[in-house]
Parts: sequence; C-alpha cells; structure tokens
Amino acid sequence: MTQSPPPIAVALHGIAKSFGGERVLSGLSLEVPRGEFLAIVGPSGSGKTTAMRIIGGFEAPDEGSVWISGENVTAVPAERRDVNTVFQSYALFPHMTVIENVAYGPRMRGVGRAARRKKAGELLELVRLSDVGNRKPNQLSGGMQQRVALARALANEPAVLLLDEPLGALDRKLREEMQRELRRIQTELGATFIYITHDQEEAFGMADRLAVMRHGGFEQIGDPATIYDRPVNAWTALFVGSAN
Ligand code: ADP
Repeated sequence: MTQSPPPIAVALHGIAKSFGGERVLSGLSLEVPRGEFLAIVGPSGSGKTTAMRIIGGFEAPDEGSVWISGENVTAVPAERRDVNTVFQSYALFPHMTVIENVAYGPRMRGVGRAARRKKAGELLELVRLSDVGNRKPNQLSGGMQQRVALARALANEPAVLLLDEPLGALDRKLREEMQRELRRIQTELGATFIYITHDQEEAFGMADRLAVMRHGGFEQIGDPATIYDRPVNAWTALFVGSAN
C-alpha cells in the first residue's frame, strides 16, 4: 500500500503585492506539507517579511489566495487564522509570570484554569524551562525569553507557526543552541514551521526545504542538498555559497 502524502498546511497561489506603486511580491506560489520545516531565505528587501505577513493575515495580497489546512483564508483576519507568529521582539507580558504568559492564549479562548496550567506546564517542559515557571520575564536571559515566546505561541496549537528571524537578537552561541532546540521541538510536535531568515547557513542547517527569495519571487524551492548541488542559476549558487 502506498502512503498518501501529508496534507498541505499552507498554500500560496499567485500572490502579488505592491506598496505605493512598487511591486514587492509577484507570482508567489508555494505549498507547505503538514509537518514540514520550511525556511524562507533571501537577502534583505527580497520580500520575506511581506510574504509572511500575508500568510499570517497582517497584510492583504493585491492578487492571489492564501490557504491554511485546505481552507481559503485570503479574506480571514489574522486573529481568526489557524496560524501563530513568533517575532524577534517577543514582547512577553512583563507583569505576568512565565507560566501565565504561556497560559494566556488558552485563557483568552476560555480554557479552564487547571487545563491551561497543565498545557503551559507541558510546553515549558518542551522548551526546557520547567524550573522558571514562576519567574517574571525580566528575570530570564534573552534566550530563555525567546523560548517562553515560543511556548506561548505553541499554546494555541496553531496549524502553522511562523517564525520571523526569531533568533536575530541572540548572540552566536545561544543562537546555535536555539537552532537545535527549535528543530527538536518542531520534530517532537510534528508541527509545521515556516522560518524566515536572511542567514542561509542557518536555513541550511535547520530546514527540510528552503524557499530562496529574490526580488519578490521564489527563485528556487527545494531541499538543502538539491539547492546546494543544483542551484537553478548563478545568482542562487552565489547566494547559497555553492558557487566557486
Ligand atoms: P525582507 O523581509 O526580505 O527584508 P520585506 O518584505 O521587509 O523584505 O520588504 C520588501 C520590500 O517591500 C522592501 O523594499 C520594503 O521597503 C518594502 N515594504 C515592506 N513593507 C512595506 C510597507 N508597509 N510600506 C512600504 N513598503 C514596504
């Protein structure tokens, strides 16, 4: 018996977007299967953040459609999309403890106190912060705060997690540690992660597939080995560092 492929968690069909007459995205199409770790990589200004904001519902496309778990969500506002976003500036609630921060989403959705505390406890275990649940964010290091932000985003059990340069503010050592942690967490949960970075090395090290962006379009989408060994053109080869 052949196994059917995993369902598509996110699809973009022919997305175009302009700001003030300037075309920022054009003809952007993508399918991300459930459980995939996809990195969107490209130089600064290539349109990565705009593409992600369109998936998250923070920005409306001029053309094209956005699909989440088989549903056309192009007209669905951000708060009603089954997507959560982790930004570089994680903005935890300073007056709440770590566990309260993580339990916040479920609380807003009406999940009872015992159930949401249990959920938050499990997620803190996953991000290896079980012992600091009662601390306030300002009592934690930057790396720990970023892990709290991740647990908080996961508490809503989104179909898709968008991560926009989430490790950009961390120093190199912490960044490498968090890269491994993020990958472990994604694998353990079987979650769909779309990860934006301008750091191709980071993308190559973490992702199942890469979508390489240039001038508002995907230059190439594929697994790291294919992109490295068979870049579609000289620009991609140079960008991913396989040109010699
Ligand atoms: P990246 O994330 O790859 O750095 P962005 O999506 O942030 O790229 O930006 C792509 C282009 O769109 C840039 O030229 C940027 O100046 C422009 N841009 C992004 N958001 C806006 C906006 N809200 N208004 C005007 N221009 C914007």
